[in-house]
Amino acid sequence: MLVCKFGGSSLADAKQFEKVKDIIRRDPQRRFIVPSAPGKRGPGDEKITDLLYACQSAAAAGRNFKHIFERIAFRYTEIAEELQVDFPQEWLDEVCEQIADGASPMLAASRGEYLSGKLLARYLGITFVDAAEVIRFTRDGHLDEETTNALLSARLMPLERAVVPGFYGADEDGRIITFSRGGSDVSGALVARAVNADVYENWTDVSGFRMADPRIVPDAKHISTLTYRELRELSYMGATVLHEEAVFPVRKAGIPTNIRNTNDPLHPGTMIHDVAERDPNGCVITGIAGHKGFTIISVEKDMMNAELGFGRRVLQAVEEAGVNFEHLPTGIDTMCVVVSEKELSGKRDQVIDRIRELTHPDTISVHEHLALIATVGRGMVHAFGTAARLFTAISTQGVSIRTIDQGSSEISIIVGVDEQDFEKTISAIYDTFVRT
Ligand code: ASP
Repeated sequence: MLVCKFGGSSLADAKQFEKVKDIIRRDPQRRFIVPSAPGKRGPGDEKITDLLYACQSAAAAGRNFKHIFERIAFRYTEIAEELQVDFPQEWLDEVCEQIADGASPMLAASRGEYLSGKLLARYLGITFVDAAEVIRFTRDGHLDEETTNALLSARLMPLERAVVPGFYGADEDGRIITFSRGGSDVSGALVARAVNADVYENWTDVSGFRMADPRIVPDAKHISTLTYRELRELSYMGATVLHEEAVFPVRKAGIPTNIRNTNDPLHPGTMIHDVAERDPNGCVITGIAGHKGFTIISVEKDMMNAELGFGRRVLQAVEEAGVNFEHLPTGIDTMCVVVSEKELSGKRDQVIDRIRELTHPDTISVHEHLALIATVGRGMVHAFGTAARLFTAISTQGVSIRTIDQGSSEISIIVGVDEQDFEKTISAIYDTFVRT
């Protein structure tokens, strides 16, 4: 049995709804469907979720929001008319009233998936199950995964087929709570776990992951299989196809996730397993991902390694400023803290002064505009010379490596280079491992 989540672009207009119906029809195993709210129909278009947030904030500020709400109403009624599905005006009126009556941002935003689910269930002729009844949050807004699992199983198992809208649930008092943006992926994973699906299909507008960002390597190959650990490494570094938290429920239950393309439904996409065969693409590496906007703070002090608590004091300074750090490359007499520029913004001097106060270093230097690039692959553990190939590829481009971090997992090597060398470095790594 399959659970299928369809993202906003897969439900952006009536044509996309038709494609979704075709996909579901093609395989009777596709029994439980988790839709997002209609997304953008193209560049410059509006997402229903954004419009709902805009309505809510206008209403909360005492401004008129009806002209924004009309754009929402028009999108749904247009889709329903084209599909010849009855979409009662009361469904829209009810949402409009909730917003006028002071709905929270979460309640307002959740109505995008709610209406999308109602419409899709009618169009497919199957049961609608309100996520508020089966996805449970605690009163302080955290997902209660075990209660959710029990509620979902009990409600869905007896059903042949159902639509459960993504993105939201409710606490015990019935207050609507949403996941963070893109959270329908998490709802889909929870449903997949609860019904013990064979595969969690996540339908979007790309045919899965590519080995590198196609804006940098236009012909980057598709990744046919990934492991959940590799996915973590790649998405942490910026390969964003799936919501980060969508991994945990399915991984725990041993359910693979298949990223598929609604606009190219015959493409097999990327299959993500807990364990996968070694190198399906014939490569040592699985993918390369990275992003710009990091700073390295290097603290140097002779005999630092013999000074008890030195590292803790450096991190204390970072923590006191409320800054999250990314990596911690260390040498004998140096310790570096890599942080994102966003985190450090406005707090840089505070952090530096405090490190100085707490550790009395010989020098502190700050290197800005750094990019981090992760080369990820389960095959790297078994292959000799991967690091040598990687560093040679980078050095032959005349790029200087500012930091190196190979996690103990041995499935990724992270290098830091100047931002201006970011694209060049990714292309060089791709050429070395994939083209030769
Ligand atoms: N509609 C929500 C968003 O735009 C959730 C989702 O699509 O997954 O973030």
